[in-house]
Amino acid sequence: MVAKAETLKFDAEIGKVLNLVINSLYTNKDIFLRELLSNASDACDKLRYQLNQDEKLAENFKEHELKISIQIDEKQKQITISDSGIGMSRDELIKNLGTIAKSGTQAFINKLDEKEQKVSDLIGQFGVGFYSGFMVANKMTVISNKAGSKKTHIWSSKGSGEFAISEAEEQIQGTKIILDLKDDAKEFLDSFRIKNIVKTYSDHIAFPIELVAIEKDAATEVLNSSQALWSKPKAQVKKDEYLSFYKAIAHAADEPWLTLHNHVEGVITYTNLLFVPTKRPFDLFHPDRKCQVKLYAKKVFITEDTVEIVPSYLRFLRGVVDSQDISLNVSRETLQNNAVVEKIKSGLVKKILAELAKQFKKDREKYQEFWENFGSVLKEGLCEYSVDKEKILDICLFKTSKSNGKNISLAEYIAGMREDQKEIYYLIGGDLESLQDNPQLEAFKAKDIEVLLLTDGVDDFWLTTFPKFQEKEFKAVTRVTDELDNIAKDKKAEEKKEKEAEELKDLVAYFKEVLADRAEDVKISHKLTESPVCLAAAATGMDLRMERIMLEQGQLQQATKKILEINPTHSIIKNLDKKLKDNKDQVADFAKLLFDQACIVEGEAIKEPTQLAKRISALLAEQLS
Ligand code: ADP
Ligand code: MG
Repeated sequence: MVAKAETLKFDAEIGKVLNLVINSLYTNKDIFLRELLSNASDACDKLRYQLNQDEKLAENFKEHELKISIQIDEKQKQITISDSGIGMSRDELIKNLGTIAKSGTQAFINKLDEKEQKVSDLIGQFGVGFYSGFMVANKMTVISNKAGSKKTHIWSSKGSGEFAISEAEEQIQGTKIILDLKDDAKEFLDSFRIKNIVKTYSDHIAFPIELVAIEKDAATEVLNSSQALWSKPKAQVKKDEYLSFYKAIAHAADEPWLTLHNHVEGVITYTNLLFVPTKRPFDLFHPDRKCQVKLYAKKVFITEDTVEIVPSYLRFLRGVVDSQDISLNVSRETLQNNAVVEKIKSGLVKKILAELAKQFKKDREKYQEFWENFGSVLKEGLCEYSVDKEKILDICLFKTSKSNGKNISLAEYIAGMREDQKEIYYLIGGDLESLQDNPQLEAFKAKDIEVLLLTDGVDDFWLTTFPKFQEKEFKAVTRVTDELDNIAKDKKAEEKKEKEAEELKDLVAYFKEVLADRAEDVKISHKLTESPVCLAAAATGMDLRMERIMLEQGQLQQATKKILEINPTHSIIKNLDKKLKDNKDQVADFAKLLFDQACIVEGEAIKEPTQLAKRISALLAEQLS
């Protein structure tokens, strides 16, 4: 007995996606076929993998029977796409085609709000490719049988908020998707059109795609070359073939910025066909930082995210890696710590970094595009323990206090270092503009010393791993104190400074006394030229910004005390020194005010904000009276 159809609602997010899909006017409708064929191919891949894992299942299926077919019915205005793949159970139909498995949907919707974004360019990337069928169909029917099960189910929907599910009387193998075409999508009943789309988008699919005629006895035609593209020799692959393979595998609308096709033979043999996209994929900063390269063993698809075949700092890569040395009998889980996988991975890392270095040398302007998109991801590699940091640093670009918004490399930084400068100076902050104006840079500017200006979140972290570049250490300008005097030395200036320090001895001592509970120390500094004061990290303490991050994350209970550096040439400081003789109280008040001001500039918390407000009000009152 066959149970009655049950009607269920799509979850709310799918409702939104469907609305966008159905109502999008200026979109490339062709891609519905690419998406459905891609799902059919995935389903065949999954069954092929299962057949290698499960002997019982293998008794009933033959690997060579894995295929996809397309049938056009002009009379009924239908296209049917069938595959002999893994299929779906009732629960899977409900889950996979009725709820959102991946968390990308909201991102998809947001992205579409941006200018000139087409549904067709984005839909596959966001893991909702199936619904692109509703661009051309007013009804989709999915008949599916999960491999190994005796039951087949029918799922159907008109794309308007709900779907129906019931048990089928007919038994099939795999999945059959029937599209009832809309009136304005009749062009897809033309077999030439279909052949063309398959050639353009899906030629690389490794299973045969057949066009099956509706009339009995008519010949079926295989539309694709059904050879794994990566297994072809490089010289035989046309540029177009790479392009359509990239677009299909990455569900992308751009062109690859770089294509890497290699066949490596040695202790371990493998082939890689990898792409660096031109545009940033939306999920680049998704918290799971998953590798997006598909792993195959002897052309059998294994996984795209349970085994990290490239490290996560190369997660912008798309494509496939195929090795005959990976055993098909081991589970995905065991592959995570597999020696062969590790060897391939380290080979790939070497290859990719070398290739990026080549591009870096060859065409800086083009490399710049890559850097703007993926530089901050690549820098994550600098935080990793096992990595050759110098190789990554070689191809990193930086904006600096002297580069006027342009990017330079570390080698270029070093070439421009001042006489006696031993370290690479940097300053980290939220945005370039406020970094440029940071008083910490004043003396560096005055001495024409270049400082790297770092604004990526990851910068706070890789610098704590104490990297070196060409034997030079990195040093935060917030930690620089006396050594600045030794760079680009000027004897007269030195003498003048010593004199100043001597003159301000009492003021410094008094500042120390007044600020005893706030500042670790008070020092004369020649870092400043325009500002009266600034904060510096204590020599033993951690970098100012790092400390703040750790405080925010609760990894640190209490902020450490900072050093207050004062500018001996500034008129405020000079005048305070004069006041010291007759109005000590006012000097104490102003010392606290200056300290708070330095805290504000560095983004540090103010200890007693009401006291600060009182002091400012008093000053204002005096000015206005
Ligand atoms: P994605 O392919 O990115 O996961 P889709 O919206 O294209 O997103 O498909 C959703 C899910 O539906 C797939 O992950 C898969 O589990 C299931 N599915 C779709 N088509 C088929 C098919 N022909 N055979 C088996 N499962 C399928
Ligand atoms: Mg899909």
